[in-house]
Amino acid sequence: MKPLRQFEVWFVAGSQHLYGDRVLGQVADHVEQMARALDASDAIPVRVVAKPVLATPEAIHQLCQEASVAPGCVGLIAWMHTFSPARMWIAGLKALRRPLLHLHTQFNRDLPWADIDMDFMNLNQSAHGDREFGFVLARMGRARKVVAGHWQDPSVQARIGAWARAACGWREAQQLRIARFGDNMRQVAVTEGDKVEAQVRLGVAVDGYGVGDLAERVRDVPEAAVDRLVEEYEERYELVPALRRSGERRGSLREAARIEAGLRDFLEAGRFMAFTDTFEDLDGLAQLPGIAVQRLMADGYGFGAEGDWKTAALVRIVKVMSAGLPGGTSFMEDYTYHLAPGAPRVLGAHMLEVCPSLAAGRPSCEVHPLAIGGRQDPVRLVFTAAPGPGVVVGMLDLGDRLRMVANEVEVVAPQEDLPRLPVARALWAPRPDFRTAVEAWLLTGGPHHTSLTTALGMEPLRDLAEMAGIEFLVIDDDTRLSEFEKELRWNQAYYRLARGV
Ligand code: MN
Repeated sequence: MKPLRQFEVWFVAGSQHLYGDRVLGQVADHVEQMARALDASDAIPVRVVAKPVLATPEAIHQLCQEASVAPGCVGLIAWMHTFSPARMWIAGLKALRRPLLHLHTQFNRDLPWADIDMDFMNLNQSAHGDREFGFVLARMGRARKVVAGHWQDPSVQARIGAWARAACGWREAQQLRIARFGDNMRQVAVTEGDKVEAQVRLGVAVDGYGVGDLAERVRDVPEAAVDRLVEEYEERYELVPALRRSGERRGSLREAARIEAGLRDFLEAGRFMAFTDTFEDLDGLAQLPGIAVQRLMADGYGFGAEGDWKTAALVRIVKVMSAGLPGGTSFMEDYTYHLAPGAPRVLGAHMLEVCPSLAAGRPSCEVHPLAIGGRQDPVRLVFTAAPGPGVVVGMLDLGDRLRMVANEVEVVAPQEDLPRLPVARALWAPRPDFRTAVEAWLLTGGPHHTSLTTALGMEPLRDLAEMAGIEFLVIDDDTRLSEFEKELRWNQAYYRLARGV
């Protein structure tokens, strides 16, 4: 079952009337077969729907308009089976408001060496048909992903799948509403940003609320709803004795559940799929939301602490993009280091708010004091993230543009227990090596708040940035600092020029 089956991408072949109806019929037949195969591929998380062969400017324009407003259509895959004079595509491409994938493939994998004749050549000419299409895309400066190779090749399907995931994330961004309880943590720079620019660029809408509005919702939570949540906590987590039925901190657990129920209610009523809070503004809340935030993230909500709406948006979008994949995605913060020679590590955590989708085992539900915030001890889930490859991705506002930075990492098991650490944590080794990764990250101005995902690789994140027209800097095994510094300088010029005057 496709995890994002409520969404579809449309698959179209371009052609022209030069070849006669018999050839256009064959093209249509091939498109049907290919779309069925792509639709059946587990590598592609959305439906793939074949559309009629496009052979006139009018038909192209109409289809591009339809794709742009069809609610379930998240993107268009175009392929020139035959030659399709590309000026026919200009009006359509100008109207197209969905991400575009230029699939450069051909129906047959092998040349029919013994039988090939000019009829075959005229039917299977994407080798130059797609070059004509590529020219007009380049001429128009149209953002797109190009994928080349035979359509049955698993690596081609995987790359189409990565793009389809990005297209779903892009769609989510267009309608994402973020509730910001309180403002930013005072004096903090990187969590700030231009919300108007973010809405223009990404579509995300950030609306502020006084935390009192949330506190009122929390106060109104019926006791029965608290009972139900506490029962669920008992089933799903290992409660420390103090939080159990007759434990001396049972009241804290009930208060945490009340906060969760009120928060859920608030978010659902406002159709918010991401939110932020700040420990500096908790008026009316008994605890800093801990387990509530963790469980909401596990249910797909985006979150950013200290008013960090950019990271909240990123966490939500990455969660949508990684639907159905093994692994997890969380709000994260680079917290402290293990700098032993040979095996340096980053210990990522936060005061409380790490998503249990990353957890290696059954989380423990605990209550501990929090040195900051001046509230009651918050209840939280404590666990260690499961090992595996991951990506740490952050978004920052440089004043004239948004920038995304992503680092490939290897999440590893801690070599020793951390018996006194009262928060959920992830330990990772950044690629290509600690020094290169961290120096590069610092040079980009990359934030301390990020989204850590062990569900999604680099490619869909890159595709998303392309769709959004956002700068995207990758730190991975190919990163060399001297080249990276040049890329930063070139980008500085490029993105300012690309903005226009
Ligand atoms: Mn923080």
